[in-house]
Amino acid sequence: MGDREKSESRIEFSPLVNGVDYLLSAVEHLEGGPSARNLKYAVLHLQAGVEVLLKSRLIINDWKLVFGRPGKATLESFRKGDFYSCSAEEALSRLSDIGVEIPKDAREEITYLSRQRNRLQHFGLTDTAAAVEARTANVLNFLLDFIRNHLQPVLLDTEADHLATQMNLVRSRLHRIQSLVTTRMQALAQQLSRAPWQTLHCPQCGQWALVVDTQESTCLFCHAQHDRQELPLDYVAIILEQGYRAFRKGEPYADRCPQCDDESLVHGVLVAADPDRPMRFCFSCAEAFDNIDDCTRCGLPFITVDDEGGLCGGCWDELTSRD
Ligand SMILES: [Zn+2]
Ligand SMILES: [Zn+2]
Ligand SMILES: [Zn+2]
Repeated sequence: MGDREKSESRIEFSPLVNGVDYLLSAVEHLEGGPSARNLKYAVLHLQAGVEVLLKSRLIINDWKLVFGRPGKATLESFRKGDFYSCSAEEALSRLSDIGVEIPKDAREEITYLSRQRNRLQHFGLTDTAAAVEARTANVLNFLLDFIRNHLQPVLLDTEADHLATQMNLVRSRLHRIQSLVTTRMQALAQQLSRAPWQTLHCPQCGQWALVVDTQESTCLFCHAQHDRQELPLDYVAIILEQGYRAFRKGEPYADRCPQCDDESLVHGVLVAADPDRPMRFCFSCAEAFDNIDDCTRCGLPFITVDDEGGLCGGCWDELTSRD
């Protein structure tokens, strides 16, 4: 990497760090039925966060685009932060110019949030708390997708690492924002209904939104991506509340799956399609089983076929070959 590129990556970095920090603060202020005061700071910080993150995307294309008048932009004033920057509305239309399309309803919510910020600064909360909360939830809902779809893919490694760490913090708190849970789960309902037998509780955010796949499992609510190797243990430790401690010493947390032979068959998993019935679930096959039993002879799980008297295939073969 040449010197010029290095210095450019450095100047791209700080607005992003700042924007995600505002986002985290907004999320903290929204947790668990926020007071009027917390709601006020949630709106202020969310608005700042949206604006800075939208502009971060502009900067990645061209730092001049965040100037109120790009024609007058100089690198020196950009580095010092000594300039009038464009408004949130201008940022939205410039994003569209560079091919980053923001859905119309999200643009309206962002514009409303900016106006609300202005009113808040002068008059305090004028809308009802419930209305404010619902609107912040809409913007937050948008922002989670924006970060994932338009920021993460175009960041340099160091920026992406920082963003990933901060977004883990954000994700772990999202479920405590009831208004967001309602908004976002409603928006995801149709998508989630496509794979009810693969949909489990996400270890990161706790929502019924983790879609397990044989390759990569993603939570549609918080966008956490779960490593195929680590997911079964995370599920057992966090969702089944067994903790990590016992398993660090090497105690098995999963059985060998009789279908794929991986050690990723977990007991007591709840699946969205049948949410009250704990089942065995293989994280490698991405499949829930209601036809697996423990063999009465060797104790290993096996797929039951009729009339084997509780014995797995191996034990059955051994016994019959003896006679
Ligand atoms: Zn999640
Ligand atoms: Zn399997
Ligand atoms: Zn057996």
